[in-house]
Amino acid sequence: MGRRPSPMRCPSCDADLEGRVRGPYSIGFSDAGILYCDQCGRTLEFSAYDKFYASLESSKMPWALEQQEKALVEGNLVRCKCGGKFCFDAPPRCPACKSSIAALLPDRMHYYILPDSLDGTKGDSIWIPRERTS
Ligand SMILES: [Zn+2]
Ligand SMILES: [Zn+2]
Repeated sequence: MGRRPSPMRCPSCDADLEGRVRGPYSIGFSDAGILYCDQCGRTLEFSAYDKFYASLESSKMPWALEQQEKALVEGNLVRCKCGGKFCFDAPPRCPACKSSIAALLPDRMHYYILPDSLDGTKGDSIWIPRERTS
């Protein structure tokens, strides 16, 4: 008794996520677009000022996209190396057991960065290379 549950423990397997998962960060004050792999929860991050993103969605912050606009962005992203897809609506997952850890977040305007993430703002290739067709 008396042990205060750490807010950074996986609700499913009780793994200590402190130091393994970064955050939570608030998305409402940033230009960050965050998606998680629908299989392994790996994080993909990009900036609203990313050139390619801006060519798809010139003005909106990624968190303000409509469903259809999200699908357009998702369709242009590379696949995760696990074979999964990066989805705006996929939850962050525990690195140990792969269960959703979305319940640890204060709300949907916060996000975690999981280990081994793809970061478009740091030069990782996140968009499917495309031939110019027009
Ligand atoms: Zn877990
Ligand atoms: Zn994955």
